[in-house]
Amino acid sequence: MKFGGTSVGKPQRMKEVAQLINADKETKIVVLSALSGTTNALVEISNVLANGDRYAAQEKINALEAHYRSFVNELLSKDAVLQKASKLLSEHFEFLNIILKISFSEALNKDILAQGELLSTKLFSLYLEEIEVEHRLIPALDFMSLDNQDEPQVGTIKVKLSQILQKHKEVPVFITQGYITRNAKGEVDNLKRGGSDYSASLIAAAVNANYCEIWTDIDGMHNNDPRVVKTTRPIEQLSFEEAAELAYFGAKILHPASIWPAQFYNVPVKLLNTMDPSAKGTLITEHAGSTGVKAVAAKDNITALKIKSSRMLLAYGFLRKVFEVFEKYRTSIDMITTSEVAVSVTIDSDIYLKEITRELEAYGTVEVDTNQTIVSIVGNEITETKDVMLKLFASINQIPVRMVSYGGSRHNISLLIPRNYKEQTLQVLNKGLFDLE
Ligand code: ADP
Ligand code: ASP
Ligand code: MG
Repeated sequence: MKFGGTSVGKPQRMKEVAQLINADKETKIVVLSALSGTTNALVEISNVLANGDRYAAQEKINALEAHYRSFVNELLSKDAVLQKASKLLSEHFEFLNIILKISFSEALNKDILAQGELLSTKLFSLYLEEIEVEHRLIPALDFMSLDNQDEPQVGTIKVKLSQILQKHKEVPVFITQGYITRNAKGEVDNLKRGGSDYSASLIAAAVNANYCEIWTDIDGMHNNDPRVVKTTRPIEQLSFEEAAELAYFGAKILHPASIWPAQFYNVPVKLLNTMDPSAKGTLITEHAGSTGVKAVAAKDNITALKIKSSRMLLAYGFLRKVFEVFEKYRTSIDMITTSEVAVSVTIDSDIYLKEITRELEAYGTVEVDTNQTIVSIVGNEITETKDVMLKLFASINQIPVRMVSYGGSRHNISLLIPRNYKEQTLQVLNKGLFDLE
């Protein structure tokens, strides 16, 4: 059971989570995010420190500490437990205060970002202690690890976690941190923003869980982005492929990589609502349940590159050379379209844009469009579903579409549009594909 930031973000919510995990006697591993707002605050602290502004960092640390002090006073009531909590906060905030004096580094940044999940799980464990729920806190840093490509080491996680669980066979509830992990150098690292979903899926896969439950602040995956579109509705069932596409192409409810471990080890995933636990939510298994378009999602900060060359005409090996440039800079390509003399690709990381562009210029002229958005239409067998293309293109006739990708899989059609057309595109698709406002 993974609970996100808003699910543990208020003392009352944390108490409700305790009720949820205590509702049955099944053995469970509970994965917690940081309290909502904490990771953002830690990112800010790190950023101002990186810029050398210790004063601003100190102010932000003090504000965060005040927030936690009042959180604890509302969460706990027994004196002995309150004292433990107070000592715990002193330790963690002392750490943050010490780093003000150390020179900033990337490793330190990761240590700072880890504080959120360390705090939320320790506070939750103290609350369980107060209400006398038998449990054990197992540090994610003892079993989560990345390899030297920064990919999670599922095999190692499995072995280490099983050893820990074996030692405590009688314990009914384990609590651990989402998001944080060790990297190949043994340092504290993380699974990137929103990574607690990924932790949950990796852990569920590692222990071969019956289910991986992702508890959040909405009743499952909706057909469109509820932050952008007024009327959206939950989807009852998705296949792993559909859910993975939606997660990868921007549905914030799931971390982009969070589906593959569950899919690989065939663990069903449930998306559930902490604020409305009896709502059906979304079930994700190998079965799609139904055919047709299920949802649309959007992914921002996309860069499109067009490589145009008359040498591409009738030439084999051209695409390989182009792709090798992206491989060299470990930058993955999301969308591709080709014509006889040009190829367009999209990337979601601009870190090596300059180097990539420079090397591609050896093969032709290169045009770069930044600030683009991929809008993905996801479903099951959509390419075989009647009228989808008709409705899709009728809806977007006012949108300047830069690229279209169709036929790569049976469950995805992707469009590339300028970022400033995202809201309009999601809205017209809501009407055109789902008949919702
Ligand atoms: P948590 O803190 O629990 O991880 P997130 O904020 O990461 O929660 O994810 C849940 C949020 O994702 C929802 O509140 C909603 O605004 C957003 N979201 C974006 N797209 C979708 C979608 N297609 N379905 C459901 N939620 C979505
Ligand atoms: N706390 C981390 C974040 O805000 C991880 C997560 O919530 O999933 O990104
Ligand atoms: Mg999240």
